[in-house]
Amino acid sequence: MRLAKRVQNLKESPTLAVTAKAKTMKAKGWDIISFGAGEPDCDTPDNIKEEAIRSIEEGFTKYTKVGGIDELKDAIIEKFRRDNGLRYSMDEILVSCGGKHSFFNLCQALVEEGDEVIIPAPYWVSYPAIVRIAGGTPVIVPTNEDGGFRMTPEMFESHITPATKAVIINSPSNPTGAVYSVDELEAIAEVAVRMGVLVVSDEIYEKLCYDGTSHVSIASLSREMKGMSIVLNGVSKAYSMTGWRIGYAAGPKRLIKAMTDIQSQSTSNPTSISQKAAAEAIRGPQDSVLKMREGFKRRRKVVVDGLNSIDGVSCMEPAGAFYVFPNIAGFLSKRYNGTAVNNSVDFANFLLDEAEIAVVPGVAFGAEGHIRISYAVSMEDVEEGIKRMREAVDRLE
Ligand code: GLU
Repeated sequence: MRLAKRVQNLKESPTLAVTAKAKTMKAKGWDIISFGAGEPDCDTPDNIKEEAIRSIEEGFTKYTKVGGIDELKDAIIEKFRRDNGLRYSMDEILVSCGGKHSFFNLCQALVEEGDEVIIPAPYWVSYPAIVRIAGGTPVIVPTNEDGGFRMTPEMFESHITPATKAVIINSPSNPTGAVYSVDELEAIAEVAVRMGVLVVSDEIYEKLCYDGTSHVSIASLSREMKGMSIVLNGVSKAYSMTGWRIGYAAGPKRLIKAMTDIQSQSTSNPTSISQKAAAEAIRGPQDSVLKMREGFKRRRKVVVDGLNSIDGVSCMEPAGAFYVFPNIAGFLSKRYNGTAVNNSVDFANFLLDEAEIAVVPGVAFGAEGHIRISYAVSMEDVEEGIKRMREAVDRLE
């Protein structure tokens, strides 16, 4: 059997792979602390679960409209109006099976052989892979810690070519937690509108901004920018609903229609029960989101202070999301038990073997010399994990 060319260089998602490995090791009796998974540690709030149970009991278990039920689309439209100052109509919204699926549908509808998509690095692991599956070429724009891991308008413009189809802005960012300011977004929007580049704004972490930093959707900056944007979001992170698989996209009608047709010929509707639950999440009480954010904020401080107190580690304090992306470059070229630690993959393996801590190597996000730590775990695990890391790196020679 000869597999298709598109899978010949395709690898599984590294974030999911690390998470699965940590779970398997735990099940075998290892005392693993997993900083790998990008998912909140708390349970889905009760009002959301109760709505799902009710919808099962009422027999809401059949096909729905491919692009999402009206009730959920209404809740999403109201959310955009309330939280982002954006007005969309029903035919400008598509509900899909998670944020990843929204981006997948988008690339299938928009990108083809010869097209380029600009992706600032560090990036979320699946952006380049999904662009490539569609036949496109990811154009990576490296950013650095000194610039707060944010792409400047100059960096963006210098990577635009006649083949550029879109640029991805992910604020707050996975994996760095960086949040773009309104001024920075305005400068990027100016370039995008002038050069005619569609902005894909992945806002899945919008509810998780700290220290008075507020999330602004780039699409809300002007009428022109709204017409040049597609906003991606979902309920996974804000409502601890990763397993329910509900994401959504909002953008120009023609694009949404094409994405809906792709969905119609692939998954059909997202799970009927999850859609009901997502509608309750978005329009119901929001106190659980605020509580979760406060919890993350406390852990963020402990993890950042803890990492910065380890010799050889430096860690920027992120303004959003629940990740930190510390620099561990100082340990590369060291050894343990005769094994060389040459890169972030070796370092992540070293932490797993020597400290029973699971992290994702920075190279998976297009940034060698770093690791990603998700601090969406209990405070005890944060504290114990930092302690183990400190002891382990002491053993490096
Ligand atoms: N977005 C999460 C993460 O980065 C979930 C896993 C994935 O789909 O990548 O860990």
